[in-house]
Amino acid sequence: MSVRKFLLQLDSDETAGVFDAVMAYDAGVDCVHPVGNVSPPEAQRMARDLIFARSREDLSSLAIFVGGSDLTAGLEILAAVQAAFCGPMRVAVMLDSNGCNTTAAAVVAKILGVGPVGGQRVVVLAGTGPVGQRIAALLAREGARVTITSRQLTKARRATGSIKQRFAVPVGAAEARDAEGVCRALHGADMVITAGAPGVMLLPEVIWCEHPSIRLLADANAVPPLGIEGIDASWEGEQRAGKTIFGALAIGALKKAVHYACLARLFERNDLVLDAEEIHLLAQEIEGRRLKERSHQGRGLCTPC
Ligand code: NAP
Repeated sequence: MSVRKFLLQLDSDETAGVFDAVMAYDAGVDCVHPVGNVSPPEAQRMARDLIFARSREDLSSLAIFVGGSDLTAGLEILAAVQAAFCGPMRVAVMLDSNGCNTTAAAVVAKILGVGPVGGQRVVVLAGTGPVGQRIAALLAREGARVTITSRQLTKARRATGSIKQRFAVPVGAAEARDAEGVCRALHGADMVITAGAPGVMLLPEVIWCEHPSIRLLADANAVPPLGIEGIDASWEGEQRAGKTIFGALAIGALKKAVHYACLARLFERNDLVLDAEEIHLLAQEIEGRRLKERSHQGRGLCTPC
């Protein structure tokens, strides 16, 4: 009897994410079991159930995906799942609350494809959500001097505190409620990334177009109006006004490739934990391969027009 791939999808939201379930089926998982509104104790109980459902040699056919829109809740569920494991009796697990790790890894891989970020000043506008926090953390780990903004300074500070606690890297906090606040936050920046909620324009064209120091922009928001005014979501390293620009659909294509690759890895061995760092490495591998293929075909990033 062939052992079928079973994914337990634990979600902190009321109903488990449809996107994550479809991604899993499309990646070749045979059965996805989505559970919404999961508390850490329930997650621990379900993970314990799962690890004893098959024999030890078949545990790599079982895996757990942790999703939902709340990163803090996702981290608590991940910790509870890991607490359920007993030595070798464990299964692979992946954390991707609101697509935070796969999207952040895709954004950062795109940026690193242009060049190293060490010492660069990067501002993540509305970086308090799951995606923005993970982008900030990964870039800070690469040596960038990162600041995240929020409409409320206390919220930005809370997010930077969580990043410091989890990744041991410093990230600055700034308030940006309006265009004036955005201008202030972008003073002296080399790069800006918009990580706001879907359909929220954060960066007016007049600000970025004439900005004296910004040379790279990336937008995570694919829902119109886009996070950066005057760009196209499909831009893939497009050159405008002397700046390199990545739109959300270009980032999304890499995000999906990374997500599929993670799901495949989950069923290769039972001792994997896929969180920000591991997913970041995978995204760099995938983007590195893609860039190599493009350069073999004689197509690099867009050249300045
Ligand atoms: P989120 O938590 O929904 O929102 C991020 C931040 O946006 C919030 O913390 C909030 O910051 C700010 N915000 C919310 N409403 C706002 C408003 N009306 N005006 C100004 N700021 C507002 O977002 P997320 O889950 O981290 O995701 C970030 C973005 O990535 C979203 O647009 C999402 O759709 C996108 N995404 C893209 C992909 C892709 O493949 N391209 C994949 C996944 C997600 P403050 O309250 O602190 O100001």
